[in-house]
Amino acid sequence: APVLHAEGLVKTHYGEGAPAHAVRGVDLCVRQGEFVAVTGPSGAGKSTLLHLLGGLQRPDGGSIRLDGERTDAWSEARWAVERRKRIGIVFQFFNLVSNLSVADNVELPALLAGCTPKQARTEREQLLGELGLGGKERSMPGELSGGEQQRVALARALVNHPPLLLADEPAGSLDSKGTREVMRLLSRFHQRGQTIVLVTHDARLASAADRVISFFDGRIADDAELDGTGASR
Ligand code: ADP
Ligand code: ADP
Repeated sequence: APVLHAEGLVKTHYGEGAPAHAVRGVDLCVRQGEFVAVTGPSGAGKSTLLHLLGGLQRPDGGSIRLDGERTDAWSEARWAVERRKRIGIVFQFFNLVSNLSVADNVELPALLAGCTPKQARTEREQLLGELGLGGKERSMPGELSGGEQQRVALARALVNHPPLLLADEPAGSLDSKGTREVMRLLSRFHQRGQTIVLVTHDARLASAADRVISFFDGRIADDAELDGTGASR
C-alpha cells in the first residue's frame, strides 16, 4: 500500500467573513520513498492540505489512509499517538519547546513513544551529530540561529523513524544559508529512503523533489515527475 492515500479531501474554514474553501476535492497518493513538493501561490490551500494529511485538522469530506489503514475513525488522541510514530512534521516557525534544551526537545517524542531513556539518548546523539549539532545539545532553542533551530526540529521529527515526513514551508523563515542547509538535509534523508511531502510557495525549492504538485485554488492543477534536473519529464 502507498504510505499515504488521500481521496476526495475537502476542507472549508469558517471564520469571520466568507467561508474559505481551502481544499476542494483532492486525491493524492504518495508511494514509499517519494519526495513530493506541493507548490502554489499563497492562499492556494497548501498548508491546509498538509494539516489534513498530518491529522492536525479534520477534513469535512474524503478520507486518508496511512499504509493502507483508514484514519476516518481516529480520535484526536489516536492521531497524536500515530503522529508520533508514523508522521514527522516540521513547520515554518520550528515550534520547539522553548524551555527545554535541544537534547530534551529531540528526546521528548521518543520517550512519549515508549523508548527507554537510553534508547532516546542514543537516537538523539546520533541524529544531532549527523545534523551537525553535536555541540549544541545543552543549548536552549532561543540561543540558536534559525537554521540550527530548524535542524533541531528536523531531528525531533525524525527521532522515531516515521515512514512519512511532512514539511510546511520549512525554509520560510530562514536566510539563504539556512534555506540551502535545510533543503540539503531533506535531500539527504530522501536519498536514504525517507518519504517526504514538502509544502512550499517557492518553485525553486520544489525542484529538489522528484515530483511536483501544483496547487491552485484548493485543487491539484498539475502533478509532474521531475527527472532530477528540475525539468518536467
Ligand atoms: P496556503 O498554505 O497555500 O497559503 P492556506 O491553506 O493557508 O493556503 O489557506 C487557504 C485558504 O484558507 C486561504 O484563503 C486562507 O485564508 C484560508 N484559511 C486557512 N486557515 C484558515 C482558518 N483557520 N480560518 C479561516 N480561514 C483559513
Ligand atoms: P502555518 O502555515 O504556520 O501552518 P496557517 O496558514 O495554517 O499557518 O495559519 C496559522 C494559524 O492561523 C492557524 O491556526 C490557522 O488556522 C490560522 N489562519 C490561517 N489563515 C487564516 C485566516 N484567513 N483566517 C483565520 N485564521 C487563519
